[in-house]
Amino acid sequence: MDTESTDTQQTQTVELTDEQWRERLSRDQYEVLRKRGTERPFTGEYVHMKDDGTYRCAGCGATLFNSETKFESGTGWPSFYEPAVAEHVEVRPDHSHGMVRTEVVCRRCGGHLGHVFPDGPNPTGLRYCINSCALDFDKAS
Ligand code: FE
Repeated sequence: MDTESTDTQQTQTVELTDEQWRERLSRDQYEVLRKRGTERPFTGEYVHMKDDGTYRCAGCGATLFNSETKFESGTGWPSFYEPAVAEHVEVRPDHSHGMVRTEVVCRRCGGHLGHVFPDGPNPTGLRYCINSCALDFDKAS
């Protein structure tokens, strides 16, 4: 997949058909990003990742989170206290499954990333609870 680096490119909306998404993504990625699924806790490849680097959207490559804001939440999903680029993520009310939650979505491709909760650490007090398979990690060089 092409990774695009400038902010201008990253704000261009990515719109693909359902069939194109199915071809482009793995089954797990498709279930999470396009069907708003949730991977099983402690199964994702980035749960315990501590390397320095950048986490991008697995759907479109947009820069989403930095390793400096990642913390051990104990939940089994990669957790961050803030996005790398605020404009790259969108939050939406989510009343599914009998819960009131706030969904986190990639603004560029509309992919479901996870949820954000108000029980995170300083400095934001937020916990962005993100599915590993919705992310691609670029290790800092
Ligand atoms: Fe995306």
